[in-house]
Amino acid sequence: MPRNILIVGSGFAGTMAALEASRMRDEKGVSPDELAITVVSPEPVMVIRPRLYERNPETMVAPLTDLFAATDIRHHVGRVEAIDNGASTITVAASDGSTSSLPYERLVLAAGSEGFSPPIPGLAEFGFAATQLDEAVMLDRHLQGLAEKAASPGRNTVVVGGAGFTGLEYATEMPARLREILGEDSAVRVVIVDRSDHVAAAMGDEPRPFIEERLRALGIETRLNVGVAALDADGVTLSDGERIETSTVIWSGGMRASPLTAQLPADRDNLGRTIVEPDLRVPGAPKIFATGDTAKAQTDSQGNVAAMSCQHARRLGAFAGHNAAADLLGEPTLPYDQPAYVVCLDLGPDHAIFARGWDSKVEVTGAQAKGIKKEINEVWIYPPAADRAAAYENVLAARTIDF
Ligand SMILES: Cc1cc2nc3c(=O)[nH]c(=O)nc-3n(C[C@H](O)[C@H](O)[C@H](O)COP(=O)(O)OP(=O)(O)OC[C@H]3O[C@@H](n4cnc5c(N)ncnc54)[C@H](O)[C@@H]3O)c2cc1C
Repeated sequence: MPRNILIVGSGFAGTMAALEASRMRDEKGVSPDELAITVVSPEPVMVIRPRLYERNPETMVAPLTDLFAATDIRHHVGRVEAIDNGASTITVAASDGSTSSLPYERLVLAAGSEGFSPPIPGLAEFGFAATQLDEAVMLDRHLQGLAEKAASPGRNTVVVGGAGFTGLEYATEMPARLREILGEDSAVRVVIVDRSDHVAAAMGDEPRPFIEERLRALGIETRLNVGVAALDADGVTLSDGERIETSTVIWSGGMRASPLTAQLPADRDNLGRTIVEPDLRVPGAPKIFATGDTAKAQTDSQGNVAAMSCQHARRLGAFAGHNAAADLLGEPTLPYDQPAYVVCLDLGPDHAIFARGWDSKVEVTGAQAKGIKKEINEVWIYPPAADRAAAYENVLAARTIDF
């Protein structure tokens, strides 16, 4: 039996963890027969979640089979249902409902996150979540189907609940999408609702005027300091009593880490993320590393913490894979760090905003920023080519180069 590392999840963090563990195995002259690296996920694909608000969300999937073959990474199809820290095993459910137990010497938890759905009356029944591939495809089908419905103000209105990054990207995409579907001359209405005083509250003061100006230019209405109180088949009622007729409510009220984090012995933050040690190890579970959206990790010595983002997930993944392999091969583990932070927010046709630093200094706006956004979304965040040397170069850069 080879020694083994299991990695739960084939998203940004899981793929980078597997590649970096493979790179390190190669660097140390250890063969895949001596150390097996296995990714467990429902399919050997990476869902490009940051593109789910775009057209044709069903195409936002990158295959991993050839990349894994080129780097001697195994893939096991299934969903992890349980982690047994004491026995060092995981329980995996296959699509036919059967379960199996897999042992691990080191485990990397990279199972990502899901949308947060509060108990708002009617939300589960009438709202559209859009943070997972199947949800985004369902929303897209619904939007396409609006063309078949009789014209009405409700049909032509989209309400977005939540004015964070994801809510803003969905909202600013909607006017053009609705016109494409309903006809260029159609009167369309998009309303974005948030309980806070401002849109993009997490981004600080400097970018706000650019974002607000963009919302105005697109004709998007804002309702701030109010919440979504209830949904029904014909519309939404806000917490101040306002009623908006709509067939489409997109819920974008935040993310929560994979529920698998609840099975670990460590404390979790308010987003359900495991509070990890500096090398991403799980306190109380020395053989387990948590990474990507499942980990709350310090990025620097200034008190900043990784966001639930690809930017952090890729590097967190590379560190977790490195440390899992280092631990098994008798090498020292490395403390995760990622001092640089940028945000590139899509703001609809030909517009985006690119800001740098935790205080969000605006560097580029408009069409130029949109070009950067396209480069990030369509090139940078995709998995590397199925070539061993190129893949190792890519993951080493993810772990060592801070931009
Ligand atoms: C609409 C949208 C827009 C976004 N825009 C941006 C952006 O502009 N910039 C940015 O940096 N970030 C953005 N994000 C956030 C970003 O997508 C996430 O932070 C990122 O995907 C986290 O990577 P991850 O690898 O931790 O998790 P994920 O990418 O979610 O991958 C998790 C993996 O685990 C698998 N998995 C889950 N549960 C199990 C289980 N029980 N067993 C086995 N496998 C499991 C999944 O199938 C998947 O393969 C956006 C997200 C959304 C939804």
